[in-house]
Formats: sequence, C-alpha cells, structure tokens
Amino acid sequence: MKTSRRKFIALSAVAAAGLSTVTNVIANSQVRQKPVLGKMKLSFEPYNLALRHVFTIAGSSRTSTPVMLTRIDFSGFTGFGEASMPPYLGETQETASKFLSMIDLSGFSDPFQMEDILNYVDNLGEGNRAAKASVDIALHDLVGKLIGQPWYRIWGLNPELTPNTSFTIGIDTAEVVKQKVNEASAYKILKVKLGRENDREMIQTIRSATNVPLAVDVNQGWKDKDKALEMIYWLKEMGIVMIEQPLPKERIDDMAWLTARSPLPIFGDESVQRLPDVVKAAGVYHGINIKLMKCTGMREAFIMAKTAKSLGMKVMIGCMTETSCAISAAAQLSPLAEFADLDGNLLISNDLYSGIQIKAGKITLSDLPGIGIVKI
Ligand code: MG
Repeated sequence: MKTSRRKFIALSAVAAAGLSTVTNVIANSQVRQKPVLGKMKLSFEPYNLALRHVFTIAGSSRTSTPVMLTRIDFSGFTGFGEASMPPYLGETQETASKFLSMIDLSGFSDPFQMEDILNYVDNLGEGNRAAKASVDIALHDLVGKLIGQPWYRIWGLNPELTPNTSFTIGIDTAEVVKQKVNEASAYKILKVKLGRENDREMIQTIRSATNVPLAVDVNQGWKDKDKALEMIYWLKEMGIVMIEQPLPKERIDDMAWLTARSPLPIFGDESVQRLPDVVKAAGVYHGINIKLMKCTGMREAFIMAKTAKSLGMKVMIGCMTETSCAISAAAQLSPLAEFADLDGNLLISNDLYSGIQIKAGKITLSDLPGIGIVKI
C-alpha cells in the first residue's frame, strides 16, 4: 500500500509539473480551426478485374468483374473509391459512368459535410448503389486523410477486434476444389458456395482436404424449407459454422421458420440491401451480411451494423470481387463484425492498391489514414 501511495504522490508531482504544458496543448487544440474550404473534383475510370479462377455461384460463371475506379481531389489530398459491378446485380460501367457524370460537387466547399454530400448523391437517382458507394468510399478516404486518421479510429473501433476473414472456395470439380483448399491453407475459415444438386458431395470433397471451420453461402439456392433444415443439421455435423441466404429472399415466412429451428446461425445477404432491410431482417435472420456495394458505402454500412446490433442481430461484412480499395474500406468496419468475408482482392490477379493485410487468417488494419490504402 505504501509503495503504491508513494507512486501516486510521485505521479501527481510529475502530472502537476507537466500540467502547464498539457494545458497549453489542450488550449491550442481547442482553438477552433477554420475548415479548409475549396473545390472537390470527382473523376472516374473503368477497370476490369481479372479473376484467378473461374468464379461460379448458383446461377452463373465468369472470369472477370467490371469495376469503376473513382477519386476525389481536394486541396492537395486525394480520396480513392471503387464500384464493383458483378453482372448479376444489374449495374455496368456504362450505368456507373452515366450516374457519376451527373454528380456536380461544385455546390460543396467542405468535404466534412458528408451528410449533405452523400444525401445529394443518393438522391440523384434510384439504384446505382455501387456507383454511389464509389463516391462514398472516395469521400471517406479523403476526409480520413484530412483528419490524418483511419476510419476505424474515427468510428472509435478497436482494431484488435477484427475477425478472421473467410476465403471462398468456388464450385468446381473435386480435383480443382482440393487444389483450391490447399492454396487456402493460411485461412482459419473457408466459405463454400452451395445451392446445387451436389451440395453434400462438395462438402465431403472439402472435408477430405481440410478440417477448418466452414461458412456456407447458398445464394437462395435451396427451395424447400424442410429439406433445408435437414441439410443444416447435417452441415452442423460436418463442422459448418454459419449459413448465408439459404432460401429465396422473398420467402420471408419460411426463412423465419427456418431461423427459429436452425442449429446454426443464418445470415441474410440478398435479403438485406440497405438500412430499412435491417429492421425487416429482425426475427427472420440471426444476422445480416453488409456489403458496401449493396448499401451505397461506408456511411450507411456503419449505421446498418449498429442498427443490427441494437436489434440483437449478428453482423457479417462481405464484399464483391474488388481491389484492395473497396476491401480496405469495408475492413474499417470489421471490428463490429462476428464474421468477415473480405477476400475479393485475393481472388484477382491485377490489384492496383495495397491495403489491409491478412495475418494468420485475421484482418489486420494499418495506421494509414482514410481507408488505409496506397497505390501500388
Ligand atoms: Mg452471399
């Protein structure tokens, strides 16, 4: 006790001596800094991501993903953004180009007025969610750089709490699946796309190569709720830890029935696009899969994550095939998530940025400001 009391007195003396300096620093930092005002310039260019493997989900296969790269220049700083547009979601480089051409930021002189700027962008038209996200991400990157901090810090999130990311193994022949599983040995959780006739075979093939936990994404591919429940019980026995979008998104009552009985947590993906869908998902799913390209970007994604948690739901952060730009933007939110599926940049061979790192399977955020990327 004596020691700690002496220590306390000593510390108090040090604190008192330093107080005048600290007071000065606080006083200086509390002087209101005039915001830097100027012109924001939005520019954009199309880019095509080359996929390392042919990508197959229930419904389609492809070898590339079109994206639109955006940037906002302001007062010597540049914020980078990206829209990823897998064909099945309806946006294209043409629609994005048309939408982004309508944006006129000359009415705004302060990038910190993100609410006004992003509401303006959102209200320019229906849909175009990936294009909107590309502006949102660039603006967040810019503002983070102006503050000099990464967004996870601005949001007050603990970078130690990032989850492991899953790594997706696409549907393929047994031989290729085994090869993919071996290539993915660094990951602590793998994601498997199901929703075809050979679902059990696919799981057994993966299980013949690895025992790591598996996340399953059905992409609405199961049609019968009783069979789905039976399958989920079997999957639990096979070491699966979560199920994504088992039934078609419009089958709300069947989904709620399945969720109430499922021994594994069920996440809505196709069912949950934007903020109002989070409220509708309560009681229907155990959790939601948030993707920047679905929800128009980081601003809404953050609110969706907080809303889901307030409704007692779990959060997953997902992605499309994207460069490290959009992936690192999404990763800023990942301390709020129980599951992350941020492997989109790992599935391409022509990334343009370096951003978050995956260390021993875990998402590792850097100290870099904004969304934490540098151009390669
Ligand atoms: Mg999904």
